[in-house]
Amino acid sequence: MPCFLYNQTMLQTETKQDILIIGGGPSGLSTALHLQKFAPHLTPRILILEKEHYPRPKLCAGGLVVDAENILEALGLDVSEIPHVDVEKAHFDFAGKGLNIHLHKRRALRVIRRDEFDAWLAQKTQERGISIRQGVNVRHIQAQEEHVIIRTDHETFTAHIVIGADGSNGITRRCIFPHDPVFTARALEVITPDYTDKTFERRKEQAYFDFFPVPQNIAGYVWDFPTQINGNPMRCWGVYDTNLLANYERPPLLKPLAKEMQTQGFNLDDYELKGHPIRWYSPQNRVSIPRVLLVGDAVGADAIFGEGVSMALGYGIIAAWEIEESFQRGEFSFRKYKHRLRKSGLGQSLFARWFLAQVIYTFKWRWFQFLLWRILKPIVTFVAWTFILNWSKKDLRK
Ligand SMILES: Cc1cc2nc3c(=O)[nH]c(=O)nc-3n(C[C@H](O)[C@H](O)[C@H](O)COP(=O)(O)OP(=O)(O)OC[C@H]3O[C@@H](n4cnc5c(N)ncnc54)[C@H](O)[C@@H]3O)c2cc1C
Repeated sequence: MPCFLYNQTMLQTETKQDILIIGGGPSGLSTALHLQKFAPHLTPRILILEKEHYPRPKLCAGGLVVDAENILEALGLDVSEIPHVDVEKAHFDFAGKGLNIHLHKRRALRVIRRDEFDAWLAQKTQERGISIRQGVNVRHIQAQEEHVIIRTDHETFTAHIVIGADGSNGITRRCIFPHDPVFTARALEVITPDYTDKTFERRKEQAYFDFFPVPQNIAGYVWDFPTQINGNPMRCWGVYDTNLLANYERPPLLKPLAKEMQTQGFNLDDYELKGHPIRWYSPQNRVSIPRVLLVGDAVGADAIFGEGVSMALGYGIIAAWEIEESFQRGEFSFRKYKHRLRKSGLGQSLFARWFLAQVIYTFKWRWFQFLLWRILKPIVTFVAWTFILNWSKKDLRK
């Protein structure tokens, strides 16, 4: 429902809250955990509203990169407590061949299931004294000079400040920036059993990203990751399209996914296909108004890959920093938030990824993709390590 169509006629109870976080995904939980870390006295004043009940499903391939691990570690959290699959090598291919990334003494990726990860992170958040109310669906947000009014299905809150952590389709952004352009990618995902055929044995513990659909105007890639469900080895497949080539004629999005799966001995029609948009970061995206700021996908995830969990955790650091200083000053314009974000390791990585996405996907020709993924390995690896990964170290110095 568009935010401006909400017409509240029911009489609702009114609850007052200082810091209200809308959405209990990684960005909302990380904002709360970092606020608790930077300003413990604010802990009892935080409330997270989550519309679902944990463990709730979330469409996501669950690939955690080194920055997600660094941020969790700095919070004193050990993600290895939850079921996961370690991926030693990540392959970035064009039509079946390309470069692989293998980090020294570290895994390339850790793959988790998001229902398990988010439920675990929510539990850790609650154990640190932060309140989460589950099953509360926020319907409307209205910022006023002295407070923000938040309407849910059954209750009205007035909050000192609001953090919109409600994801790519979130109500917070739609209420505060109803007319802003939205840069959104399409993603489809399928879960299958693991490889049984010996021919594909070597793929088992590796993650694949193949950019073969780019010359067909699908500005993204097909992925194939190992994962697990209830301890059983499975594969997570998907296709991501930034929509940067949406003005050109494109095949249906499931076509390249079906092709890749078929090459590896799977038939897409045998499995349940699910889709979800991913809002990606563009420097044009606005991030706050007085008393309301956005984090995570509500601002934007990585444009190249749609990678957003490490980013969501990183937004939590920058937002908590901004909020802590605002409480110290007693002033809640959040004027500095965009600048702070832009200067942060996270902001620089998001900017680099936005810029590189324009290059990788609009230079869509076969020869260019071939050159990039098969020939320029040292350059691509250097750029990935310098501008894309490892950004969290800078932000964790706070
Ligand atoms: C198919 C797919 C595959 C992906 N694969 C990866 C991957 O491998 N690695 C990676 O890093 N990223 C991946 N991503 C991106 C990643 O899932 C997101 O970037 C990340 O979840 C963003 O976290 P967030 O906290 O901002 O939002 P979300 O995780 O979307 O959390 C938002 C929360 O807000 C709640 N909420 C929403 N509306 C309301 C409301 N009105 N009231 C109350 N609560 C509300 C939701 O229930 C949810 O819990 C993938 C995304 C998709 C779609």
